[in-house]
Amino acid sequence: MIRFEAVTKHYRKDLPAALNNVDLLIEPGEFIFLIGPSGSGKSTFLSLVLREYKPSNGSITVDGMQLEKLHDRSVPKLRRKIGVVFQDFRLLSNRTVKQNVGFALDVIGVPRKEQQEKIEQILATVGLNDLADRFPHQLSGGEQQRVAIARACVNQPTVLIADEPTGNLDPETSAEIMRTLDQINRFGTTVIVATHDAAIVDGMRRRVIELAKGEVIRDQERGVYGLGDY
Ligand code: ADP
Repeated sequence: MIRFEAVTKHYRKDLPAALNNVDLLIEPGEFIFLIGPSGSGKSTFLSLVLREYKPSNGSITVDGMQLEKLHDRSVPKLRRKIGVVFQDFRLLSNRTVKQNVGFALDVIGVPRKEQQEKIEQILATVGLNDLADRFPHQLSGGEQQRVAIARACVNQPTVLIADEPTGNLDPETSAEIMRTLDQINRFGTTVIVATHDAAIVDGMRRRVIELAKGEVIRDQERGVYGLGDY
């Protein structure tokens, strides 16, 4: 699904590489935790997958698309394959849950009459059917994050990227969000979670890829967060 071959990313030639000679293979349907201290290259990795940047060296393939060769006009096609969830939810405050999720369908031109069923299905998956007509300020933080997950997944992306999805949430709500991401993963979506949250990593026991100074220093099936002091 995602292949990095000898990928190096320099933002500036006079600074050390943000990613250095990274080789990785992520198979379709995997659930990955990407961990490492601040500045270790997690965001750079995610930005490269989204083709926000091109690698300085090496090759990146996402769902069959070779990104360093991808023409700018094909970038939207890549982005439609990838749902993204952020720490701060990023919902539209003046739109209801249903409208926030529908917005992702508007953007790619799905007719309104075809939207209803897709919205209902994804809201059922994240457990929010009863709250479809509420506005974001009428929801808890965990519910808002589940709306964000629904919005990211309503187009059935092949990959879901979650960048610190539990960063603003208490431990119990964080566990709930992880159950939601697990549910999305069970439907076949490849899920990549960048996180500092040791409790969720240790609670899930999924593949852990650990970065330090732009290099992969650990790649472990059914991993734990580890003893590092982040
Ligand atoms: P993380 O997400 O793990 O905190 P980043 O990928 O943001 O790590 O950062 C990796 C390195 O690249 C850091 O040294 C950071 O300062 C540098 N960096 C990140 N983004 C930029 C940028 N847009 N311009 C210059 N340097 C950057």
